[in-house]
Amino acid sequence: MKPSYLIKPALDERYPEIDYGKGVFLFDKEGKKYLDAASGAVTANIGHGVPEIILAMHEQSKRVSFVYRSQFTSEAAEKLAEKLADALPGDLNWSFFVNSGSEATETALKIAIQYWQEKGIKSKTKILSRWISYHGITLGALSMSGHPGRRARFVPLLEEFPSISPPYCYRCPYQSTAPECGFLCAMELDGAIKRIGSDHIAGFIAEPVIGAAGGAITPPEGYYETIKKICDENNILFIADEVMTGFGRTGPMLASENWNIIPDIVALGKGMGAGYAPIAATVVSDHVMEPILHGSKSIMSGHTLSANPQSCAAALAVLEYLENNDILSDVESKSVYLKNKLDQLKKQFEFIGDVRGKGLLLGLEFVRMPGAKIPFERSMKLTELVVKAGRDQGILLYPAGAGLDGMSGDAVIISPPLTITKREIDELINLLKATFIEVY
Ligand code: PLP
Repeated sequence: MKPSYLIKPALDERYPEIDYGKGVFLFDKEGKKYLDAASGAVTANIGHGVPEIILAMHEQSKRVSFVYRSQFTSEAAEKLAEKLADALPGDLNWSFFVNSGSEATETALKIAIQYWQEKGIKSKTKILSRWISYHGITLGALSMSGHPGRRARFVPLLEEFPSISPPYCYRCPYQSTAPECGFLCAMELDGAIKRIGSDHIAGFIAEPVIGAAGGAITPPEGYYETIKKICDENNILFIADEVMTGFGRTGPMLASENWNIIPDIVALGKGMGAGYAPIAATVVSDHVMEPILHGSKSIMSGHTLSANPQSCAAALAVLEYLENNDILSDVESKSVYLKNKLDQLKKQFEFIGDVRGKGLLLGLEFVRMPGAKIPFERSMKLTELVVKAGRDQGILLYPAGAGLDGMSGDAVIISPPLTITKREIDELINLLKATFIEVY
């Protein structure tokens, strides 16, 4: 095997070499065109090659690209923090900039623990989370992740944080339906808190819409109200992992806003830099910052490249682009248009068991027997087959699924750039149809 760079997911596979991107399309060196129906990994939220972002980054790089955060602040970082505070709901006013979603959730974990310490409560060190979840690949973030496939190799190094079932209505563990179920999966949180003791729990983390581990698993109305109430009643911080859902992916800036929830701490990533630069953030509310500002006055975390002006300039330009072009106000109508077409595909292709999601974060789950919701054999690697067939047809899809036999089946995420037009959605559907004809 020829030496190769080590970050490719399959080291023995040949990947097409990218040439350039424009809007919702990518073109490889052989001239093949791909519709980026996944925004890469739900990241390129405003599409590729947007001149405003490139110009802002160029202007910043002409002045300075990097300064160390304990030596300088920058106009780009200050403006970004200010604009984010304006754009986010409630008193989410304090941004801690990092470089990836994993760093953002891991920093959220640390801030939650620090918050209780600064209040003089040292025993609150656990973060509860759900099975079928993904919060990142570093050890703290992986500890919180209910993703057996990604945990397996490192189990001895991980904390046992995942503790409750996800709101996976398609495969409800209680074989019930909302709201008659009384949100039993949310009530599990209450049980876990009683078992562990709220004196030991700093926070609870959840993805508002479950992404990589499940394929856009969306909770029923009423679920998050129940979760937030349980957190508040037990003095547990609610951390929203909005790395995938934030920056308008589901319509509002935060997906939590769909359910009128204001988290105590939020993790942002992916769409924040929209792929133009690596940047993410842990955003903290006033009431969580208060004991820290009156206590140690410092957050015990950070990375060399945190808040570098180059990435901040990119994220600031993305935020301005969203506002100036009123991108978020169209997400709902595009979502309805796309979801209707996916529902039609479901009627045509029996192996589509479920169409779900929120905004432009939609998911398809595949089943061998639709009535009984029987998943495909794991050995078939159906998700991989679909993603590969899609690539051949010229459409990029995001693979999802936690690999929990019998719990989370094969699924893909459909999450095109928020800037996609309805005509391009029609093209997406045609390519998807061709992909399914090839696979099924
Ligand atoms: N949190 C969520 C919800 C994610 O979807 C991801 C990545 O897929 C992460 C955290 C980790 O982000 P990153 O890959 O940027 O470290």
